[in-house]
Amino acid sequence: MLNFKALANDVIKGYEITEEEAMEILECPDGEILELLNSAYLIRKQYFGNKVKLNMIINTKSGACPENCGYCAQSRDSTNPIEKYRMMEKETIVSGAERAHQLNSGTYCIVASGRGPTTRELNQVTSAVKEIKEKYDLKICACLGILKPGQADQLKEAGVDRYNHNINTSEKHHDTITTSHSYQDRVETVNKAKDAGISPCSGVIVGMKETKEDVIHMAIALKELDADSIPVNFLHAMEGTLLEGTDELNPLYCLKVLSLFRFINPSKEIRISGGREVNLRSLQPLGLYAANSIFIGDYLTTAGQEGTKDHQMLKDLGFEVDYEGSEMPV
Ligand code: SF4
Repeated sequence: MLNFKALANDVIKGYEITEEEAMEILECPDGEILELLNSAYLIRKQYFGNKVKLNMIINTKSGACPENCGYCAQSRDSTNPIEKYRMMEKETIVSGAERAHQLNSGTYCIVASGRGPTTRELNQVTSAVKEIKEKYDLKICACLGILKPGQADQLKEAGVDRYNHNINTSEKHHDTITTSHSYQDRVETVNKAKDAGISPCSGVIVGMKETKEDVIHMAIALKELDADSIPVNFLHAMEGTLLEGTDELNPLYCLKVLSLFRFINPSKEIRISGGREVNLRSLQPLGLYAANSIFIGDYLTTAGQEGTKDHQMLKDLGFEVDYEGSEMPV
């Protein structure tokens, strides 16, 4: 078996692991999971100590999306009876920021369904962001879909710190998940945000019938994209979605995936995202030895663990909330 601890020390010194080593991480025997996690923790500790970043999401526009992402309850092809609504009023978006502030969340993520924002929607978001920035010391992440020319600059000008657009899966697996836009469309939007001087956030959803090679390629793709923040979602397949009934994950495998992302993206903010509660279950706290960030509050279309329980979990682990918010190199 690979010496994970020695590998972690090499990674800290700048070594980039090979795909073979990456596969050994994903195929770590269950009985060696603590050895693997301890090694991932060595890297995590080097860059983030015992700090945990918190992010809170608000879904400002829900459902009625013309795209066909197989995992998504907001897609036109989903029959899941989620609540559907148009873009929220500015006041509602601003009051969500107050909640994020109360939960000690460093980052407030403003998310909207759809292929990409209309001019009116973008204006609504940017005007809310300007007001939030005046009132609260919060980092703002926007996640509004594919950006048209000039939209990233408008977001930057309003004070948006980070833009999220997930690659979701590997380039090879992408077309089995959605055909209404391409993998390249997603990569281009991440690059547009970067070019506008906004910190790029891009992540994945694991558990969508991809292979382990796909998982390795996702982690490498994000390294190449130089995403500052990497949300790792674990599929929580919802009724009525194209991936309904998909249930491939188990808690130990999720820990191996998080460790892999840490080994490949050592200094990046790795966030245990959607599906944390249902897929990691009782092992949720262990995920934080590899990752250094979580969402607090609810996800887009599913409920999360109560914020107070999350704070208790961090306290029990001896971890501290990073009140400073996310550091966002631009
Ligand atoms: S993930 Fe986004 S683009 Fe895809 S269907 Fe859902 S809301 Fe639409």
